[in-house]
Amino acid sequence: MRITDVRTASIRANFDWVLVRVYTDDGLVGLGEAYWGAGVEAIVRRLKALVVGEDPHNVDWLYQKMVRGMSGAGSTGGATVAAISGVELALWDVVGKALGTPIYNLLGGRYRDRIRVYADCGHGDAPTPEAWAERAASTVEKGFTAIKFDIDNVDPACFADAHHVGVGRKGWLQCQQQPISNREMDRILELVGAVREAIGPHIDLALDCHWNYNPRDVITLARHLEPFRLMWLEDPTPPDNVEALKRVTDASPVPICTGENHYTRHGIRPLITEQAVDIVQPDIPKMGGLLEAKKVADLADIYYIPVAAHNVCSPIGTVAACHTCASMRNFSVLEFHGQDVEWWNEMLSGSGALIEDGYITLPDGPGLGVELNEALASAHLCEDSTFFA
Ligand code: MG
Repeated sequence: MRITDVRTASIRANFDWVLVRVYTDDGLVGLGEAYWGAGVEAIVRRLKALVVGEDPHNVDWLYQKMVRGMSGAGSTGGATVAAISGVELALWDVVGKALGTPIYNLLGGRYRDRIRVYADCGHGDAPTPEAWAERAASTVEKGFTAIKFDIDNVDPACFADAHHVGVGRKGWLQCQQQPISNREMDRILELVGAVREAIGPHIDLALDCHWNYNPRDVITLARHLEPFRLMWLEDPTPPDNVEALKRVTDASPVPICTGENHYTRHGIRPLITEQAVDIVQPDIPKMGGLLEAKKVADLADIYYIPVAAHNVCSPIGTVAACHTCASMRNFSVLEFHGQDVEWWNEMLSGSGALIEDGYITLPDGPGLGVELNEALASAHLCEDSTFFA
């Protein structure tokens, strides 16, 4: 069996889902997804020349060929590594179909039959305790036992007296690490308190800082947040400095989780070997793909660090992530970031809701075990994309 073509389609949703198909000379077609980003589709088209004519079974060798062929795209590879990840996911689907077995059986087999997911709740519907409580309660009503909110930009009023350009931390790109004012701190605690009260003590709750704080202030914030018994505090400081992150993790009474902006096992390695995180959070279709994520999990396992996979994909990338999450001994929970995309579940043809009671049951068909709803996907095609043409 030889690879004959690689094609893409970008679907417009809350993110642009970059779907990738790998075609073979015996008629099998594999489907994958790459993390969104400008230029990812164009890079996939460049990768085509590196894989056409090759045997798709040699996934790890092909991964290395793509990395070397793109001028050694490594731990700082950005969109290039995301594109490689999309092809890698599609290769696993081809190989699973060729061998007649689910992908998880190609990655060492499974530790679990279903994958626990947590629902991202973003910034809620408005920056008020009532809106956050309502968002939390309605998410839990859907069956989720773990949820996440973004605390980094909670109320423009917190920033009104700041002498910076823009409103809120996202408007202050020149000074993200400005101190947290007492007003902002109190606002965060008020919102988180409303959520905890709404969901009770036994629903897991994570908070995302989106890299916005300096080490001293986020340590103080973590101490104030300790009574809320958080699952984790995510991305407290920018992703570039592991020593600064380690200072936070060493001092925080709340578990620190990060990793979505690190690429390949080489990029994630110091988070684990320096023990700079309590939970490591690879984004699987962004950081290198299924086997690369499995290698990260195994490294983390040596340090007794659990894995919580970051995920903003369509059901295609999400199911692919489930196969490798099933194979990780130290897997904890997978993100679901599609609550507000009403047709998220319908992206798969001929199946019911993928997520039930906060879990995804692993498909047991060959490869991914799911197929794309082509009519729906093509109806939401990005205007600058083509449907696998
Ligand atoms: Mg995050």
